[in-house]
Amino acid sequence: MSESNADSARNINNVVVPEISIEIVSEEEMALIDAVLAATRCSFTSSTVPSICSPSQFQRNVRALRSITLLSKRRFPGCSTPDIEDSGDLGLSHKGNKVPESFLERFRKGRGLSVTDMTGTEWCEKQMEYTLLFGRKRVNKAMRAGKARHEKLEEEVSRNVKIHVQSGEDAWAIKFINFITRANQLLFEGLTRELPLYGFIEGVWMVGVIDEIQMPVKETHRNPILVDTKTRVSETLPAESQRRNGRLQLMCYKYMWDNLAAGAFPSRQFFDYFSLNPEYVLSEEIRESTADEGYPAKTLEDIVTFYMNTWNMLPSAHNQLLLRYEFQKDQSLIGEDKFYYDENWLKSRIQDCLGFWRGEREASYTPVEDRWKCQFCQFAPVCSGNPKPESTHSSSQTDSNTSSSQKETL
Ligand code: SF4
Repeated sequence: MSESNADSARNINNVVVPEISIEIVSEEEMALIDAVLAATRCSFTSSTVPSICSPSQFQRNVRALRSITLLSKRRFPGCSTPDIEDSGDLGLSHKGNKVPESFLERFRKGRGLSVTDMTGTEWCEKQMEYTLLFGRKRVNKAMRAGKARHEKLEEEVSRNVKIHVQSGEDAWAIKFINFITRANQLLFEGLTRELPLYGFIEGVWMVGVIDEIQMPVKETHRNPILVDTKTRVSETLPAESQRRNGRLQLMCYKYMWDNLAAGAFPSRQFFDYFSLNPEYVLSEEIRESTADEGYPAKTLEDIVTFYMNTWNMLPSAHNQLLLRYEFQKDQSLIGEDKFYYDENWLKSRIQDCLGFWRGEREASYTPVEDRWKCQFCQFAPVCSGNPKPESTHSSSQTDSNTSSSQKETL
């Protein structure tokens, strides 16, 4: 891409946040962390992300973990009282008739879910539960390489500039500006990458970051094509369960996209949920920047209006979705998976995942036929769903090429 094109695709997304040195944080997770910062009026210095505990600490916590699992068990409609014996004596007892917090309330309150949360839950609910309670795995070489590849792809079509934020409202404004800039790039240049989506689906706020969107030039109906690129350590296509996980991810994006393109962005609920002041006057730097881009915005509400107006210009996404598998070593194409959107299947998967997040039932182990995943799971030594607890855990494989849900952490 030429320098002038890069300039026209100017991207503003450098929000001042603390360095997180021991974990890879996906773009979606980063967006969620930013949302928390926004909710706490940008108290950046106090933000923390759970880190993995030491093995001995981990073992000590296993008992507590099992009990916590019980605390998250089924909450039947109309039943407001938790089973008292399930709560044990963990310092987690609840006063009166208070219902125990679901994972959604406990870990995503004021933040919403990411599409990565959905795919991670579909991969193995038990693994997601462990990850929430004890933190995720550390970065390995394959993950770093995958992340670098995605950054390179992004740099091919856009350039980041630094903007300092003074508040949560500023931070959110920059996210929406980021979207507007890239959506315009899609409309005028036919391609954009790393497009962030913020929407409300199935009763929850959700964030997603789409790898790539292409605008078809020859078709009569110009519906954007959503693309996701998976980098793999081995030069082979993944197993069906991994491909299914990738399909779920892209279908989530399509569902969010179509909802937003249809105008479904409840802005009042958005301001309330994330505790934002719509009338907040944005920083001078942001106001100048939006004026330069041709849509002068004074307040956060102005930016949200521009965000919604931009969606009004976008058609629904193409029904065919594209998963690309790339060999990490030389970036050659291993293969593509083209498939059609299946809304009924997607909604049933989302509802199933939300059952776990809302505490309506206990976390399930991955199905028996998928227990091969256990040999690559960091929690295998303590998980009773693991059929071979004595086998050695090999994180390098799963981190790089077996879990589609890990894409944003690569
Ligand atoms: S060991 Fe297997 S069943 Fe247990 S959390 Fe890991 S992948 Fe899921």
